[in-house]
Amino acid sequence: MSAEIIDGKALSASIKEDLKGRAAEFEGAYGRKVGLAVIKVGDNPASEIYVRNKIRSCEEVGVKSFSYNLPSEATEDELIELIDALNEDANVDGILVQLPLPAGLNEKKILARISPEKDADGFHAVNAGGLLLGLPCTKPCTPAGIIELIRSTGTKIAGKHAVVIGRSNIVGKPVAVLLLGENATVTICHSKTVDLPSITRQADILVAAVGIKEFVRGDMVKEGAVVIDVGMNRCDGKLYGDVNFPEASAKASYITPVPGGVGPMTVTMLIRNTVEAAFRCKKS
Ligand code: NAP
Repeated sequence: MSAEIIDGKALSASIKEDLKGRAAEFEGAYGRKVGLAVIKVGDNPASEIYVRNKIRSCEEVGVKSFSYNLPSEATEDELIELIDALNEDANVDGILVQLPLPAGLNEKKILARISPEKDADGFHAVNAGGLLLGLPCTKPCTPAGIIELIRSTGTKIAGKHAVVIGRSNIVGKPVAVLLLGENATVTICHSKTVDLPSITRQADILVAAVGIKEFVRGDMVKEGAVVIDVGMNRCDGKLYGDVNFPEASAKASYITPVPGGVGPMTVTMLIRNTVEAAFRCKKS
């Protein structure tokens, strides 16, 4: 079998077209654009690229971005003061703090300060709890994008065995919860899992969020599986996924490429979260 590629860029573009209409509808109804505040601290080169992509996506969709670039010496108090002001700002519907933050800044404390209603990344404990309890909440971007990518293949998720490699709070755990919500039978694997290949070989849907270049080899993939590669591993100036693409695509039915798979969807889900937050705020 040679897998069909799940084109995250194309899917992302079609969702953005939709969001453009929703953003225009918001502007027509409320006389201002949907607004996303993007806070960057320090000059991490990868963060610079991610922030630039996010701001460009806002522009494409007609969402106004408010950019805050703080120096790496910025204090926790300064950052918290800015977040407090943005929480109160009626023109701002979503707030995003680009991670990682420079050493010395307490990431948990800072993210917790963002109002859950404006938490565009869906990282706040209130939203994470809502996700677990099945309550209306802002879903984290990468996991939400993964579900859209799987749906786009026409694969019925209900009843399938989904195996997630990785249990981070931003990818592994929430994507497992979302797959469970779609009625998949879910197994979560991690670094202490014994005989991982015997488990991944049972996966109808395999999500790799490990952070190790080409960790998933062809002999770990079930014939006909849908393979989602979350990995973004920079090596010698090139980007590699967590999946060995040639080997896995010889076995899978559908597979996401790196780049061009999960990455673009993560940014698009951020914009979708912001647009939805804007409408929700007006309804409440
Ligand atoms: P993370 O916090 O480092 O978590 C990695 C997970 O992989 C951990 O749960 C770890 O297990 C598990 N793991 C490590 N080695 C393993 C092994 N040998 N066998 C089985 N499991 C193993 O990473 P993350 O934030 O979830 O990110 C994962 C990857 O996705 C990274 O490459 C990251 O850059 C990428 N990413 C991409 C996007 C995107 O938009 N495309 C977004 C977010 C992240 P333990 O818990 O036991 O340590």
